[in-house]
Amino acid sequence: MDISSSTKLYGIFGHPIGHSFSPPMHNAAFQKLGLNCVYLAFDILPQNLSAAVNSIRQLNIQGINVTIPHKQDIINCLDEISDEAKYTGAVNTVKNNDGKLFGHNTDVGGFLKDLEVELGIREFSEISACLIGAGGAARAVLSGLCISGTKKITIINRTKIKALELANYFLKRFSSIEINSADLKDHSEIKKCLENSNLLINSSSAGMIGHDPLNIPLESLPKNSCVYDLVYNPKETELIKQAKSLGHRSAPGLGMLLYQGAESFEYWTNKKAPIDVMKKALGNN
Ligand code: NAP
Repeated sequence: MDISSSTKLYGIFGHPIGHSFSPPMHNAAFQKLGLNCVYLAFDILPQNLSAAVNSIRQLNIQGINVTIPHKQDIINCLDEISDEAKYTGAVNTVKNNDGKLFGHNTDVGGFLKDLEVELGIREFSEISACLIGAGGAARAVLSGLCISGTKKITIINRTKIKALELANYFLKRFSSIEINSADLKDHSEIKKCLENSNLLINSSSAGMIGHDPLNIPLESLPKNSCVYDLVYNPKETELIKQAKSLGHRSAPGLGMLLYQGAESFEYWTNKKAPIDVMKKALGNN
């Protein structure tokens, strides 16, 4: 890659950021299309977010992905956000249009695409989902499930009040869907939730490298259910191992990372993302 004075800069803001697979994925795509662009990872502490967002304008950074823990807080620092970002309440992609910053959410589309590719889920009217987590990623998953017409969703979180607040936020827009909340620590309540589900999604950080594995009574999920884990580092979490051993269809979050990345790439460059090259770059991590 030849860096010159006209090289365009892209990147990702997060904290911590060492786990991110986005730099090799986007750099491989830029290289494949012969674009004079480079993508870097920036470790941004929460108290520095606003200054970091200003630097997008000042350094003329063309586009930024946003990850833990900034997806919600960044909204207040932007000039405009897309409808997807609005009803999700989270932004994972920022585009710099001559100093004006637009926020968008490509996690929603990335999640739905991978659910279809890996688990064959296209029709949601018979889906009763349990969703672990109530952070930025959970918002994208909830948006995807709600716009696709999921019948019933239970949000399960370590801090129950956050699950309740998220359920209320989505109920305002999707009043016809049954959305409940539950406490991750209450195993008898979780057992009942799982018994009445056919899709379990982990959108919490549990199971991610450096975090404890997810502790839930997975044996309560009915046979032949689906389990999707947004965590992609490690590539196979304890949850996915357990789901496989119980005979459920399962998939890790690497595909979602790929498809949300491809959508961000196209949003920034207006060029078709080289999916195969991006997938290969992820596989090498
Ligand atoms: P976030 O906004 O910081 O939210 C983290 C969530 O995880 C909160 O609900 C938190 O619960 C919960 N949590 C943290 N540690 C936990 C533990 N040990 N046990 C149980 N729950 C725990 O983060 P995020 O942006 O939503 O990201 C969450 C995960 O999704 C990360 O692993 C991230 O890499 C992954 N992700 C993957 C993709 C993809 O493309 N595959 C996209 C986005 C995110 P409290 O409310 O109690 O703190």
